Amino acid sequence: MPEKRLPISAGRLREIVAQHPTPLYLYDEAGMRQSARDLAAAFAWAPRFRNYFAVKATPNPHILRLLAEEGCGADCSSLPELLLAERAGLSGEAIMFSSNDTPAEEFVAARRLGAVINLDDVGHLGYLELHAGLPDLISFRYNPGPLREGNAIIGRPEEAKFGCTREQLLAGYAAARQRGIRRFGLHTMLASNELDPGYFVATAQMLFGLAAEISRELDITFELINLGGGVGIPYRPDERPVDLAAVGAGVRAAYEGTFGGAGLPPPALALECGRVITGPHGYLITTVRHLKTTYRSYAGTDASMANLMRPGMYGAYHHITVVGKEEAPADAAYDVTGSLCENNDKFAIGRTLPELAAGDLLVIHDAGAHGHAMGFNYNGKLRSAELLLERGGGARLIRRAETVDDYFATLV
Ligand SMILES: *Cc1c(COP(=O)(O)O)cnc(C)c1O
Repeated sequence: MPEKRLPISAGRLREIVAQHPTPLYLYDEAGMRQSARDLAAAFAWAPRFRNYFAVKATPNPHILRLLAEEGCGADCSSLPELLLAERAGLSGEAIMFSSNDTPAEEFVAARRLGAVINLDDVGHLGYLELHAGLPDLISFRYNPGPLREGNAIIGRPEEAKFGCTREQLLAGYAAARQRGIRRFGLHTMLASNELDPGYFVATAQMLFGLAAEISRELDITFELINLGGGVGIPYRPDERPVDLAAVGAGVRAAYEGTFGGAGLPPPALALECGRVITGPHGYLITTVRHLKTTYRSYAGTDASMANLMRPGMYGAYHHITVVGKEEAPADAAYDVTGSLCENNDKFAIGRTLPELAAGDLLVIHDAGAHGHAMGFNYNGKLRSAELLLERGGGARLIRRAETVDDYFATLV
C-alpha cells in the first residue's frame, strides 16, 4: 500500500508551524504544476486543448496564477470567481463562465472580461442579450437525463438542476444563430470525483456524437467542446490515480471517430478539472488538543468541519497521518474531531492511528480541492491561513488566517 506523505520533512513542518500556528493549509507548488502538466500531456494531441481550472476548488489567485503558467484557464461560476481569475492575470477566452441561476451583473462581468459564456439554460440567451449583450461565441450545457448515470456527489443527471435537454439545445443554437451568433460551444459536466477512465471516454463519445448531430440538423459547426471536470483522486491509500493517459487516448479515439473525416471541422477541446490538479497537493495541518475516552476514544483537534467540510458533508474519506509517528504501529482507534457543536464534526470515525498524545501534529491529506474553499464561520469558527510550499523550499503565506475582527467586520 503506498503511504501518503508530506513533501517536506517533519522538521521543516515544525519550523513552519512555529511561525504559522495550526490549523493551516499547505499547498505543494511542484505537485500542482506536475498535475497540470500530466493532464496537458494526456491531451497534447487535441487541437487548442485547455484545462479551465475550476476556481471553486481552490480559489486563491496565487494558485490560479501558477496554474496559468502551466497553460490552465479558469472556470468560474460567480462574480467573485471571475474577479479572482482577473486578478490572476487571466482574460478573454482563457476564462470559462459556467454558471447557473445567473444574476445579470455576473453576465456583465463575464462579457467585460471577454469570457466564454456557457449557458445553463437556453432561456438565458434573451436575458444575456438584454443585460449584457450577446458575445460572438455561445456555449450551452447539456444534461443527458436518463441516458447517463451520475454519481454520489453530483447526483443523477435526471435529478440534477444543471443543463438543458437535447431538444432545448437544438432550439437554443437555432435561436442564437438567428440573433447573429456564429461561433458555438457545447459543454457537459456529469460526474464528480470519478475514478473510472471509461466514464470520461463515454461522456466524450456522447458529446461528440451530439455535436455532430446538431451540426447536421442545424448546419452549424462547433468550435469548442468542453467535457467538464470531475476527474477523481485516490483519497484512500488503496485507490489508484486515474490513468490520465488512458482517458486522453480513449477521448482521442472518440474524437477522431467523429471529427477525423472530411465532414466536420475539428473543434477545440476543453476540460474544467479542479480536484485532480490541486486535491492531492493540499494538506490540512492540525494539532491534537485533547484526548478523551467515553464509549469510544476521541482525538480533538484545533481544526474543525469549518476548515474541511467534506467528511461531515459527504462522509468523504481523508487519510490522516501523524507527524513523526509514520513508522509507528496503527493500533489505536479514534474519532478525530473538531470543536463544533455538531456531532458530524469528525474528520474520521473509528480510524486506526498510532497512539496519539496532545500536541501531536496531524496531516489530513488530499485537502487541496474543495477543502479551505468550503470553509465557513458557523459556531464562530474562523478560516485558517493558506501557505504555498514553493519549489525553492520556501513556505509563502498566500492567505492569512481570519481574525475575530474579520468575523465582526460585516455587522452593522
Ligand atoms: C465543480 C465543477 C467543476 C470541477 O469539478 P472537479 O471535480 O473539481 O474537477 C467543473 N465544472 C463545473 C461546471 C463544476 O461545477
